Amino acid sequence: MRAYVSFAVAIALAAGACAAAGQNRRAATLIISGGIVITENVSHQIVNPGAVAINGADIVAVDSPESIASRYTASETIDARGQIVLPGLINTHTHAPMVMFRGLADDLALRDWLQKYIFPAEAKSVSPEFVRTGTRLAALEMIESGTTTYADMYYFEEEIAKATREAGLRGVLGETIIQFPVADAKTPAEALARAETFIKAFKDDSLIVPAVAPHAIYTNDKETLVASAALGRKYQVPVIIHLAETEDEVKIARDQHKATPVGYLESIGFWGPRTIAAHGVWVTDEDIQILKRRQVGVAHNPESNMKLASGVAPVTKYLAAGVSLGLGTDGAASNNDLDMFEAMRQAAFLAKLTTKDPTAVPAQAALDMATIGGARALGMQTSIGSLEAGKRADLIIVSMAAARQTPMFDPVSHLVYVTRGDDVRTTIVNGKVLMTDRQMRTLDRATVIADANTLAESVRRAVQ
Ligand SMILES: [Zn+2]
Repeated sequence: MRAYVSFAVAIALAAGACAAAGQNRRAATLIISGGIVITENVSHQIVNPGAVAINGADIVAVDSPESIASRYTASETIDARGQIVLPGLINTHTHAPMVMFRGLADDLALRDWLQKYIFPAEAKSVSPEFVRTGTRLAALEMIESGTTTYADMYYFEEEIAKATREAGLRGVLGETIIQFPVADAKTPAEALARAETFIKAFKDDSLIVPAVAPHAIYTNDKETLVASAALGRKYQVPVIIHLAETEDEVKIARDQHKATPVGYLESIGFWGPRTIAAHGVWVTDEDIQILKRRQVGVAHNPESNMKLASGVAPVTKYLAAGVSLGLGTDGAASNNDLDMFEAMRQAAFLAKLTTKDPTAVPAQAALDMATIGGARALGMQTSIGSLEAGKRADLIIVSMAAARQTPMFDPVSHLVYVTRGDDVRTTIVNGKVLMTDRQMRTLDRATVIADANTLAESVRRAVQ
């Protein structure tokens, strides 16, 4: 249940008197005042009207506008009246530069799509410049649609990290480890060495969490998987892997390892508390128990799973088992956008349809997956995922003025069932305003799009 907060008149008066005195007011850098504040804290508290005080990178208070005004003074104030203020959305699985392959090869099964189109296109076009241009485009799309943190796995991850930091987004970024020669490494050993250099370079960054990302069990041998997990443990960084995405993968695991994908990775000691598994579609009840026991975060990607007809992840079973479940878009080549609002809606609809239960994954559960659930899946729940004092100031302000959002009886219902990424007005990460009233502050929108269109010409030539 949600707890609505109301404030006693006496408290408001006392606070007003304090403000009038102009004393005891602490300095903040930014105050967002007047919106419906959806905290996503443990009691799903909504403060209406609410306000958020931010100092530097941190949220210092969430309260009524009167209370915040009486206790804080800030150099910048954002009026959020008529809008919803909520934690920035967390995309727990994507491949940012793959926005450059958006719409390049649609309507194919995963194996054909990967082996006939994506891997060959990547072999010909992926370079540091490709990755930089693609990441800027992805960052623009994410900021414009309310994503503040994303988990990535790709090549030249240090370039992705630099572009992500410049855009002002938070990223859990995994350097890909794969058995065959790819753009940034000829062997898995070279990829692992690259990953280690990358981890050392970004280990203490305020926005970037470096990670190691062995692609999947069917693209890495046992030694490479074990070495990847060991590298993650050595530096205590996340290990990201595609897991049990298709029935094909399960067949490979059963044929080669006499186990499920989850069971195989368990048998080689791969799992640890900082592992993040993308998809987890084809899992048994026993697999779910292993993932729970090993505290693995699972990234659910309903749109990619539907488009590639990979299958349906047992979301209600994961939630019932207490597995940390986040939501992802997957790369734009299999979605084909990075809009987490659409991912929320599809996650709810898909769960309802496939369980034949309209009460499955209600709006609140879908919103949880895209915020605090995603934070848990990434092992970052103490710093992001909800609007609470002491956490980083990662939040978005969403307009509710569209015809399709009128009238509004329940803000959570509207966020999941009618809101689109385009409705996001303001995006703030680590206390920094990246977009305000849809004006980008960190990226030059026209340049990012022009550069992507120019690069797309070389992608087109590479696949002809
Ligand atoms: Zn993926």
